[in-house]
Amino acid sequence: MGFLLKIALFGLAIYGVYRSFRYWKGLFDRFTGNTDLPQRRPPPPSPPPKPVTRPEPPTAEPLRKPAVIEDTVQCAGCGAYISTAAEKCGQCGRPRP
Ligand SMILES: [Zn+2]
Repeated sequence: MGFLLKIALFGLAIYGVYRSFRYWKGLFDRFTGNTDLPQRRPPPPSPPPKPVTRPEPPTAEPLRKPAVIEDTVQCAGCGAYISTAAEKCGQCGRPRP
């Protein structure tokens, strides 16, 4: 029992020595500016992956109002184009076919 305790204390002591050595070593290096140890610099944070924002196609295109184009028919008598809504030709008065 005492042996195990001794071992544990020994390990603890070694650990303490190690830590104190690291501490003093770091302090010494800081004062002297001698940094033989490669400074572990955290890698530069990689830029976060930008979500690919695809430009949305203009889906909500306003429905174009169809241009009002009257159907026209050519008058058989004078050749003038008259609206299909017209009852008769405005040029010659001939009734629309
Ligand atoms: Zn006509």
